[in-house]
Amino acid sequence: MNIIESWFVQVMQFIWTYLVPHGSSTEDPFWSFTITSLINAAKGYFWFMIIGIVIFALYIRKGDQKMSVWAGLKHLFPAKIYTHRSFKVDMMWVPFNYVLRFTAYAALALGAGLVQIWLVGKFGPSTLQVPAGVFAVVLQIVFTLLGADIARFAWHYQAHHVPFFWEFHKGHHSVEVLHPLFIRTHPIDQIIRLLYMNVGGGILGGGMMYLAGVNASALAITAFVFLRAFLGSIQRFEHSHIPFSFGKTLNNIFYPPFYHPFHHSARPEHRNKNLGRPCGLIIWDKIFGTLHVPKPGEFENIIFGSSLEELGDNNPHRTVWRFLSNPFIEAGKILRAKKGNARPIEVPESAGTL
Ligand SMILES: [Zn+2]
Ligand SMILES: [Zn+2]
Repeated sequence: MNIIESWFVQVMQFIWTYLVPHGSSTEDPFWSFTITSLINAAKGYFWFMIIGIVIFALYIRKGDQKMSVWAGLKHLFPAKIYTHRSFKVDMMWVPFNYVLRFTAYAALALGAGLVQIWLVGKFGPSTLQVPAGVFAVVLQIVFTLLGADIARFAWHYQAHHVPFFWEFHKGHHSVEVLHPLFIRTHPIDQIIRLLYMNVGGGILGGGMMYLAGVNASALAITAFVFLRAFLGSIQRFEHSHIPFSFGKTLNNIFYPPFYHPFHHSARPEHRNKNLGRPCGLIIWDKIFGTLHVPKPGEFENIIFGSSLEELGDNNPHRTVWRFLSNPFIEAGKILRAKKGNARPIEVPESAGTL
């Protein structure tokens, strides 16, 4: 029994160290961070290839097509995606994005626990008490994920329905090809999302923990980071042409990555739909009437972009500079127009006689 246990621990350690993307060490900030980022990108891609080839072999390959790794790779990496202008803009944004992400790492895992500890300090322990142990750890993870899921949906709903915020979120939607490497997000949009998820999600998750009488534990935070890495490798499929689905029944509970490409569709019937997060709950889209369940064959007809009028040369974010600057200009216009509406310019009565 002991042999099995120690073997299990060794396997877990191997997976953690070599296969799961995780945070960078802080000893030599610049190089260690750059190298860790590259290694993490490669690890993430490794999982995309393994899972992607399995999906290709089982569901996509035609009956008479011979299965080979080469055929699988050709399907996973079509040249027309990786030579598109939109892909180049994404790639040029990568270094900036890693710097931004660095500041946000692990904050979510801590947030809910800290809020729970603060609530106990402020109001005393809750009347319910879940004894420390595996059940309490599981509950802490569930509440943390749930809090983040609700907060993220709220951010996304606002990003699509409030014109000022849409201008910044549009940077994520102006991509014209989807690929699992990295899809750009405007820094302002990213900061707002992190605020929602880390602060809002932390308060919601911590509040639920407090009400249920779950005490924060360090073990839950470690397990949470591990789970996030696992979920991350599934979420990667949200920006790809590989249809990752959980199956008919589970798709009614969890948001499958396959629904996300429709969120990027420029077609009017798909706009502002499927706002949830892959692996999160599908119920939020159901409640807010924003769910679009894909029909067979519909995926092939998607045109990716922020709208049908803003494609190719008309794409407002066709260069990195435009992607970065255009949202400020457009959001500024919205603010000025609003100011104008709030205080209409008074026209003197005599004006009519001029
Ligand atoms: Zn969106
Ligand atoms: Zn997306």
